[in-house]
Amino acid sequence: MMPPEPILCPPCGQPLDDGPTNKDHVFGEAFGGRATVRVHTACNSTAGHTIEAHLSAADGPLTFQRADQGLAKRPLVGMLPDGRQVEVDFKAQTVTFSEVTVETITTDDRVEVEISGSPAKVEKVLKDFRRKYGDQIPTLSEYPEDKIVRETIEQPEILTRLSIRPETVMAAGVNIALGAGVLAAGESFASSELAAALRDRRDAPPGGVVDMAKPEALEVLDEQYAAMSAGMVASGFPDRDLPTLNVKGSVNDVVFIPYDNKTMVFVRLLGLQLFGQGIVLDAPMPAVGAYGPPVAPVLVRETAAELIVVDFTERLIPEG
Ligand SMILES: [Zn+2]
Repeated sequence: MMPPEPILCPPCGQPLDDGPTNKDHVFGEAFGGRATVRVHTACNSTAGHTIEAHLSAADGPLTFQRADQGLAKRPLVGMLPDGRQVEVDFKAQTVTFSEVTVETITTDDRVEVEISGSPAKVEKVLKDFRRKYGDQIPTLSEYPEDKIVRETIEQPEILTRLSIRPETVMAAGVNIALGAGVLAAGESFASSELAAALRDRRDAPPGGVVDMAKPEALEVLDEQYAAMSAGMVASGFPDRDLPTLNVKGSVNDVVFIPYDNKTMVFVRLLGLQLFGQGIVLDAPMPAVGAYGPPVAPVLVRETAAELIVVDFTERLIPEG
């Protein structure tokens, strides 16, 4: 009798029973992901966390994406051309000076204070003064208008720093795609040719790493989407079932699209497409799982509310 095939760890491709394992968030907890897959504890704690840290750093690509969607907990930090630091809140469409400056000039009989910053921050400084010196310190609204200099920044030019390391983005996308493959097709996905091709792509040395989809692949994609869209409408499915790749929102997804004997993989985190037009892998989708024939395009999507795994063909063009 043949011994049973060992179950492999998705990110490293080694048997899971080789070491301690734990559950790893497929899309990353930092990005609202909930679904997990089993990986080596070592594989989870090293690569995954470095990648997440880069993507969600203050100048990381996902911080920009979150800020743009109004999902950021903290505003984005930028700089005006004159060097002053500002905070940008895309949702409220506001720009606020990060720092409040207080300058005091003490003469024999009095102290003059100049405070600059956003109104809210100036108000806070005045409040501190009142606590210290009493109610003779006015609030901002009580201040004489001629003592206030208001500065309006018309169409501010704000300098921000965005840092993207292609190899890190590729590694993040590949690890997410590997986890999503397990969610779609089961644990045996990690042993598939496609999973091996994904890991090779991730581990390829920088330089030859980013390999955008070829134009013909994009045409195939467009045709697939057009066909799905038409089939969906013909079958009376509501629009929201269309897994469009350009939707904005707090959505993470992975799309596997088979064509010829290859597979195109798209990974989107918080609506941000991780590798431009997707990556093409020289391996077929494994013919496993409950999601239709191996040629079926598969979407794995996780929102804050639910995990969806759909075979487009089955979902969009139902039998009969
Ligand atoms: Zn591993």
